[in-house]
Amino acid sequence: MQITTVDGLQAYRSPWTGSVGFVPTMGALHEGHSALIQHAKHHCDQVIVSIFVNPKQFAPHEDFNQYPRPIQKDLDVCHELGVSAIFTPTVDEIYPPKPRSSDIYTPNHELATIMCGKSRPHFFYGVCQVVQRLFHIVQPTHAFFGDKDLQQQVIIRRMVQDLNLPILIVGAPTIRDANGLALSSRNQYLSSEQYDRALVLFKTLHDTANLTKENNWTSYQIRQFVASQLEARGLKGDYVEIFRPSDGTIVNGHVQPHDHCCVAAYCDTIRLIDNVQLLSHIG
Ligand code: AMP
Repeated sequence: MQITTVDGLQAYRSPWTGSVGFVPTMGALHEGHSALIQHAKHHCDQVIVSIFVNPKQFAPHEDFNQYPRPIQKDLDVCHELGVSAIFTPTVDEIYPPKPRSSDIYTPNHELATIMCGKSRPHFFYGVCQVVQRLFHIVQPTHAFFGDKDLQQQVIIRRMVQDLNLPILIVGAPTIRDANGLALSSRNQYLSSEQYDRALVLFKTLHDTANLTKENNWTSYQIRQFVASQLEARGLKGDYVEIFRPSDGTIVNGHVQPHDHCCVAAYCDTIRLIDNVQLLSHIG
């Protein structure tokens, strides 16, 4: 069931009394999204997927206009997965010219300006703006976010806490292709030569997790190793950080179980992100 208006979605959702899982996406659905939707279906009585390319999280020079929008294919995927409703609003529906309420949540400044927030300062402000609105419209009991976008997931968890929203945020593991590349709607921008080079990202993270465990590496050693590996394969590192999701901080020095190595790198003009949990078997 495709629904394009806020009123339509709210009318459709209102009789439901059980759990409602929500999976916000920007479309161009791939197996990573499908796994997230299946996760939601497993946990909840009803599942709503939104497909909305949010203009507020793109800077003017970014790929908002080029972002892939294969809407019919996306609807087919959602139907096959048996979701209850697919919410595909227009920009005006989400950001009405005369909004009824103008309360906009501002994410924690420190958290929103490290890692992805450093090179994309507008990004998490735009993400929070749309997710806050979508939560308000959909009224989910659970919302599902991929671990691939770990910083985003931590910021949304913080938003839900700060606003006391009765929504359980559920994370789901990163889905990769057969060669380890984390699935992303932007992977389709990669030529086959770029794809081959992009594979260094996961290989390096995988090696980093092992080497950190074996050699008790500090954050400095990890960062140096990752940066050199990426450079050797012609990727330009944007950032390499050790991130602690439990408190949303960057780790300098000693690494603890559950810290993640998070990376963003450019394969020519295409920006890729990925992360891996360090010392995952300990503690
Ligand atoms: P997007 O459409 O890129 O905004 O992503 C929508 C949701 O899908 C976010 O919660 C992402 O973290 C999640 N997601 C994207 N790619 C993957 C992946 N490869 N594995 C798991 N979740 C993903």
